[in-house]
Amino acid sequence: MPLIQKLPSLLINQIAAGEVIERPASVVKELLENSLDAGATRIDIDIEAGGKRLIRVRDNGYGIEREQLALALDRHATSKIASLDDLERVGSFGFRGEALPSIASVSNLRLISQAQHASEAWEIDGQNFTIAPARHAQGATVEVRDLFFNVPARRKFLRVDKTEFSHIEQMVKRLALGCADAEIRLSHNQQAIFVIPVGAESQAIRVNAVCGKGLLEQSIYFDESGAGLRLSGWVGLPTFSRSQADMQYFYVNRRMVRDKVVTHAVRQSYQDVLFHGRHPAYVLYLEMDPTLVDVNAHPAKYEVRFRDSQLVHDFIYKTLHKVLASARAGHVNSGLKENAFERRIDLSNGWATPQNNSLNLLNNAVHESLATYQALYSTASSNTGFNHIGQSYPSNPNLNPNLNRDTPPLGYALAQLHGIYILAENAQGLVMIDMHAAHERITYERLKVEHDAAAMLSMPLLLPLTLNVSQREADLTEQYQTTFEEYGFELHRTGVETITVRRVPSLLKEADIDALVRDVLADLAEHGRSQRIENERNELLSTMACHASIRANRKLTLPEMNALLRDMEITERSGQCNHGRPTWIQLNIDQLDKLFMRGQ
Ligand code: ADP
Ligand code: MG
Repeated sequence: MPLIQKLPSLLINQIAAGEVIERPASVVKELLENSLDAGATRIDIDIEAGGKRLIRVRDNGYGIEREQLALALDRHATSKIASLDDLERVGSFGFRGEALPSIASVSNLRLISQAQHASEAWEIDGQNFTIAPARHAQGATVEVRDLFFNVPARRKFLRVDKTEFSHIEQMVKRLALGCADAEIRLSHNQQAIFVIPVGAESQAIRVNAVCGKGLLEQSIYFDESGAGLRLSGWVGLPTFSRSQADMQYFYVNRRMVRDKVVTHAVRQSYQDVLFHGRHPAYVLYLEMDPTLVDVNAHPAKYEVRFRDSQLVHDFIYKTLHKVLASARAGHVNSGLKENAFERRIDLSNGWATPQNNSLNLLNNAVHESLATYQALYSTASSNTGFNHIGQSYPSNPNLNPNLNRDTPPLGYALAQLHGIYILAENAQGLVMIDMHAAHERITYERLKVEHDAAAMLSMPLLLPLTLNVSQREADLTEQYQTTFEEYGFELHRTGVETITVRRVPSLLKEADIDALVRDVLADLAEHGRSQRIENERNELLSTMACHASIRANRKLTLPEMNALLRDMEITERSGQCNHGRPTWIQLNIDQLDKLFMRGQ
């Protein structure tokens, strides 16, 4: 029979290292977080050979006292929490007291520090724990050499220097985006790679440094609070989508997380506006009472557990949905834009919802513009004067030839190009509009509003549909009965494992009801909510909108074109068509001048 033995502490640390120290970038994460926890305002990271030869992180934080140096390298020793109560409200990145001993067990580690108010510096050797005098300004340096020298299995899996370094670079950027108060410098093989600065506007500068200026230019900045939560940051325009999910930064109380609840909520808010297969870009900060989120769910702390995940989900979803709805044509440019900083919006009273509640405006617009649209695609030669809704703007630009600040955002139509595009002139220059794409979105949004207003009309099934489901699904049916009713379904549990559908939403009478109900139940089981009925409905409305919208080669009169522009300006999400493509592009006079090399 094999003997049960206590493991030696080196091996215990090596096992722990297996969990959190996967590659040089993981070491950088732990050291950088320690420096931030120590209140550093300047952090220098020096890397050699992709981090395989050397990782050195030096900071100017509060440092470690001589007597504490050995403890810092001891397992389960931390200065950050002392009780379960502390753990529940922890605000620091670290609290497990595992990183330094783990790293020291798989590398040659040296820790040098001069503590705050101390007069000399000391260093400790991570292998034999000997302490010797050293030279160091206030703060600490951790030097990690020859990572995994004693763990060949791990060492074998490391990639070429360049790859390992790019992981480090990504890691540093991710961490830098989450904190605002330390200047961070990174160098590789004695070459400076980047400096992430602090100062006024520092957060935008950091976003710029990490994501490139594309995101700042193609995103909406917002800051929204409610239900004890605060969400702020940059949410990428749907037209700035990416082929990979590589520009998604989400922070909970400054900690970067990859969380299922969060990802699902964000994804859902882009539902209606993203080109399929594309990924949104964002940098988002969620702040909340630390006792309502458990960060001790994962050794590397990438996952968190929200006490009320439904609340967090709904807040993120509703906020982003609202922000994205504000991406109306003429307001946030979907094309080229010079200055991103002017695009900060305040959802409560900024220009995103100018003087009117956008939904009321939309509702009025729906009714007033109905005649316009009927005319638009029923009468071939429509010279009828348009009774369009942008009442504040003169409908005929000839009456008001000067383009000034009263000019509507998308300006006035000049001509139609190849039956596809509308060319218009506004205060900034030239606007080009894809008329089918634009009209499709307007029709779609209008249909949605109409259907929301009329609630979901339902109709009885000639033959009630009986479905065999699991007991859990039958339970859910009972539990969510009213939710189903709101969507126009009438369904009851008729047995331990059977449910019967009697009425369905009239709009979805052609849908595969069996599959739809099952999918909704699966969603309810997994997430406690489902968007399927709404999605199914939206898909149908979107198809209807597409068919009902102006086709290419349809000749429009100038008043018709102007009516379309005015509608775009007030329609939510009109910056993109129903498939996420842009509906309009602005070319400023400056940009046109550049094209013609004017003034160069
Ligand atoms: P944790 O961060 O979970 O507490 P670590 O093993 O990363 O555990 O660090 C152990 C302790 O060493 C920390 O609690 C902290 O007191 C101290 N320490 C580590 N790095 C630094 C640093 N750069 N500056 C000051 N103290 C540090
Ligand atoms: Mg730590």
